[in-house]
Amino acid sequence: MSNRAWFQCINEQCRATYRLNDIIYRCRTCQSLLEVKHDMTALARRDAAAWMKLFEDRYKSNAWPYGSGVWGKKEWILPDIKDDNIVSMYEGSTNLFWAERFGKLIGVDDLWVKLCGNTHSGSFKDLGMTVLVSQVKQMISEGAPIKAVACASTGDTSAALAVYCAGAGIPAIVLLPKGKISIAQLVQPIANGALVLSLDTDFDGCMKVVREITKDETIYLANSMNSLRIEGQKTVGIEIVQQFDWEVPDVIVIPGGNLGNVSALGSGLLMMKELGLIAKLPRIVVAQAERANPLYRSYVKNFKDFEPVKAQKTLASAIQIGDPVSYEKAVRTLRQFDGIVEQATEQELADASALGDKTGMFNCPHTGVALAALIKLLKAGKIDKSERVIVVSTAHGLKFADFKVKYHEGTMDFPSQYANKPIELPASVAAVKDALAQALEKGI
Ligand SMILES: *Cc1c(COP(=O)(O)O)cnc(C)c1O
Ligand SMILES: [Zn+2]
Repeated sequence: MSNRAWFQCINEQCRATYRLNDIIYRCRTCQSLLEVKHDMTALARRDAAAWMKLFEDRYKSNAWPYGSGVWGKKEWILPDIKDDNIVSMYEGSTNLFWAERFGKLIGVDDLWVKLCGNTHSGSFKDLGMTVLVSQVKQMISEGAPIKAVACASTGDTSAALAVYCAGAGIPAIVLLPKGKISIAQLVQPIANGALVLSLDTDFDGCMKVVREITKDETIYLANSMNSLRIEGQKTVGIEIVQQFDWEVPDVIVIPGGNLGNVSALGSGLLMMKELGLIAKLPRIVVAQAERANPLYRSYVKNFKDFEPVKAQKTLASAIQIGDPVSYEKAVRTLRQFDGIVEQATEQELADASALGDKTGMFNCPHTGVALAALIKLLKAGKIDKSERVIVVSTAHGLKFADFKVKYHEGTMDFPSQYANKPIELPASVAAVKDALAQALEKGI
């Protein structure tokens, strides 16, 4: 294996390096997180225009695996992996659409939504999991003693891990907080044949257990503290810029829980800048649920200190995390990208999500958090009406049908401003005509 990419400790005083096929998640010297570093001199031998052309030529093509949104950028992700070991479901290349009506309603003209949930397992977690599971396959082929891959999850990580492992024929183990994820998210790893362990705790509790069981090297850890995931997820920012013909937007809003994804977004954009594909950086906004807001609390104190919180139950269940693993990486990203952190209450996130749906979206509650944060920042004048804003939608709304049902039934513990209740009628033409007349008069 050549050394075009390696793990490096994020602690500036340490900077220890490790090989990508080492079974390691934290620095052995100082316990900090690791990140994947690339041989930038080697990458810079191809100029920016040539990179852009290469990425364009591969985009959505059928040349396996380069038609994948992730593997189309293979040299920037895992340059040394053998194509035979890549486990891909053609993730990425998700649609980025102009949310014209919603933008008009909230007072921003140039609003776009990046639909990362329109993918194999229904969330952006696919982007990272294709990379991690591919690397595991390569390590197994080289004789590594890995018997299974495990994760703790708020629902989407486990769905992605289960489906990629099923595709590769590698056993998957998922630890889920009992009763705290949606039915769709629970059934995904079950259907894909993972070993599903439902623990009587929250995500942070599951995370503690999985860290212990993966001290045994035969069980490989798939949580985002494993920076292989970040390498795949970093394509989201690159792809957004590519979809705008290599023009950088002004602001990118992203919901954050464990905070791996915001670090990934930053990492891809920084790599583009270093290699000359872009000349400026967008601002990044992290949106948190008020009931699980440790990053927000630290932000308002200018990141002077960090205290984990006990995450309260929130509709945005995938970000119900009180002790985010990637806090330090996220702060570094926010400092580099003139970042903002905003939070949303349950009512704010649910109403924003529903209002988005009324204008043609179909949002998950986490996207609702991002939309609500955007509304608040526009009102506060922290984002300007004329700016080009991208909201990263992290999962498909169909995974959260239970959330939408409760909202539209009006059975949340707050009023549902945009509830749309079905009308039950006898099967008679007269009754339907009556109902239509009333509805049309009111305006549907
Ligand atoms: C995982 C997840 C997030 C949060 O990503 P982090 O990397 O944990 O910050 C947000 N939304 C959805 C739908 C997710 O599955
Ligand atoms: Zn270190």
